[in-house]
Amino acid sequence: MNANPTLIPVAKPLLEEREIEAVRRVVLSGWVTQGPEVAAFEREFAATVGAPFACAVSNCTTALHLALRAVEVGAGDEVITVSHSFIATANAVRYCGATPVFVDIEAGGFNIDPEQVEAAITPRTKAILCVHQLGMPCNLEQIADIGRRHRIPIIEDAACATGSEVFWDGKWEPIGKPHGDIACFSFHPRKVVTTGDGGMITTASAAYDRKFRLWRQHGMDVSDTVRHSARQVLFESYPELGFNYRMTDLQAAIGREQLRRLPELVSRRRILANVYAERLASVPGVSPPNEPSWARSNWQSYCIGLPRAVSQIAVMQALLDRGIATRRGVMNIHRELAYSGPGDCRATGDLPNSGAAQDNSIMLPLYVQMGEGDVHFVVDALADVLAVGGPRAT
Ligand SMILES: *Cc1c(COP(=O)(O)O)cnc(C)c1O
Repeated sequence: MNANPTLIPVAKPLLEEREIEAVRRVVLSGWVTQGPEVAAFEREFAATVGAPFACAVSNCTTALHLALRAVEVGAGDEVITVSHSFIATANAVRYCGATPVFVDIEAGGFNIDPEQVEAAITPRTKAILCVHQLGMPCNLEQIADIGRRHRIPIIEDAACATGSEVFWDGKWEPIGKPHGDIACFSFHPRKVVTTGDGGMITTASAAYDRKFRLWRQHGMDVSDTVRHSARQVLFESYPELGFNYRMTDLQAAIGREQLRRLPELVSRRRILANVYAERLASVPGVSPPNEPSWARSNWQSYCIGLPRAVSQIAVMQALLDRGIATRRGVMNIHRELAYSGPGDCRATGDLPNSGAAQDNSIMLPLYVQMGEGDVHFVVDALADVLAVGGPRAT
């Protein structure tokens, strides 16, 4: 029975009057799709993450598709990644006709285990697609080193990682510089910064950036803004197969406001994550997320490990009955029907850590409007639910 209305959602975007004002300005300007607002958002995003180039697209899935295409992933190729991720990570590989090769995640975390990456490399490996899961940076130093030694490009699925940082060359740097070859971000409402839907691709390569700009608008070699402001008649041409992966100016205007709030959004999340960590320390059997010394999460999600013998679904239901929404751990792509066919994917083993992470962890509510008292309420409820052994796994 779930008699109580949900008091505490698992996530909630921060959207207010300033975002409405930004959209209003764009609507009244008469230019609503990819134009000056998108260009400004790209400049501001590039400056925020310290990237030479940033190209806005319709979402992170299309960003990943273009990134993989740019490093020439095609039919028959392999891309090393994790199964323990949102399905879009692997879907983008399959859009290219390539096979996702799944390695396990680290014990005690939700990110790719770099030790397993090297063993998974074959002559067909065309890219390594690492994920900064839930906003926690993966071990970029080790992965970039593997990429350098084997001359394999690194693509970062940074969907969750706007505002996350990594300690690099003696200083803290934002995810997205990028530390691999290309980084892809999402602005879905579940992420720290939202434009409704939206994505961004950052790179230090001018050649990649040119491809992204061509491919995101049908492969057309002249942009709408250039045509619009031309004093001479211009005919466009289509040198390559492209897509419609544009972001609209309405979305970009919201994104610019959200980006201005980023420091405030991330620092609030860090405070709440600290409160969680402090309070959870006194709940037996629960493992709070581990932030390595070289990583600073943006705490997009706060995912904890449950005591072993406890039933995940029963804990989640008991919390929901008390008005607290949670989500189970990140999915495992290889377990889905869409990945059950021959050649859909390849796993390098049983992926025990990935399986355990999905089955034995839950995400607790975390959003900037949350009060510290709400965190106490959630942890107290969890402690209560887990007391006397908690709901048993059957
Ligand atoms: C959200 C997410 C995506 C997909 O992002 P969209 O913008 O919704 O396409 C890809 N990878 C990961 C790890 C994600 O969390």
